[in-house]
Amino acid sequence: MEVVTYKCPHCGASIEYDAEKSAFHCDFCGHDVDKNALVSQEGQAELLGQTLSEYHCPSCGANLVTDEHTAATFCRYCGSPTIVKKNLEGVFKPDLVIPFMVSKESVREIFKKWCHNGRFTPKGFYHPQQIEKITGTYVPFWLFDCELKAEIKGNAKKVHVWRSGDTEYTNTKNFYIEREADFAFEKIPADASSRMENELMDALEPYAYRELRQFELPYLSGFAAEKYDEEAENVFRRVDRRMAQAAESELLNTVQGYTAQTITGSKMRYVKKDARYALLPVWMLRYRYKGQDYTFAVNGQSGKVVGQPPLSIFKLGIWGAVFTVLIFILMTLGGALLL
Ligand SMILES: [Zn+2]
Ligand SMILES: [Zn+2]
Repeated sequence: MEVVTYKCPHCGASIEYDAEKSAFHCDFCGHDVDKNALVSQEGQAELLGQTLSEYHCPSCGANLVTDEHTAATFCRYCGSPTIVKKNLEGVFKPDLVIPFMVSKESVREIFKKWCHNGRFTPKGFYHPQQIEKITGTYVPFWLFDCELKAEIKGNAKKVHVWRSGDTEYTNTKNFYIEREADFAFEKIPADASSRMENELMDALEPYAYRELRQFELPYLSGFAAEKYDEEAENVFRRVDRRMAQAAESELLNTVQGYTAQTITGSKMRYVKKDARYALLPVWMLRYRYKGQDYTFAVNGQSGKVVGQPPLSIFKLGIWGAVFTVLIFILMTLGGALLL
């Protein structure tokens, strides 16, 4: 038993998590359904070689193929949400999840605004079929809890300038500074998928942890999800630098009353490192245009957008021409008015 799909207990239709209502709602019969009342239907999956699995959609029976990273997806034929259990069990069982709060309808509006209703983007980019492809994906993250003993050393100086008659005097006093403190960091996020660009994922922060829940399978219904493929230990090296920088600047902040201060050395010792596995909600659209990849990504909790839309030189050219003409007309008018 490896794939599962959730059904409405009233009418048997496939059911998806409703981001707007933060609940399960059946679009078919209109009932709100309690998470525990959902009926799960399981299907078989078979391994095809090393990285691909094939399964029969529990709803329509179609043959579907998923890759090794897939934890949740949709049936290509009937659209039923399907969850691949083996990628959410054992070491891949998430501890925590932030459910989607931004609905598909809202993300479409965000997209339209983001690319200015397609005024400057290539034709294929701003297209109903393309907008349809914006996918809600649960991205695997590690949330790090760390305790850090931090020490900094450095130099500071006090400069005093005064005048006497026509002469200006400068007195500089140099100081050696040393600071140390214990820091505790809680739930510092870093994405755990090699297929997601780190900078892009970092830019989606912050996430509000008040909506962090214990993980349960049904939350994934209606979204795509991936399992992690980067171990916490390796991802830590990226977070580690962030925490060290934060500690350094906090310590340097306590150095007050000098004209200038600089850090010459620092020592960071992690006395505790814990990582919890969480799935965080991201709406995404990937697009390739003239040999370059573009990503539209939205924090599925806050609605924050990151990424740059592709620009069509042709369309920019037209608008440039329109503006030139407008300016020309305005100038002519201006000229006329001056007469
Ligand atoms: Zn129903
Ligand atoms: Zn199907």
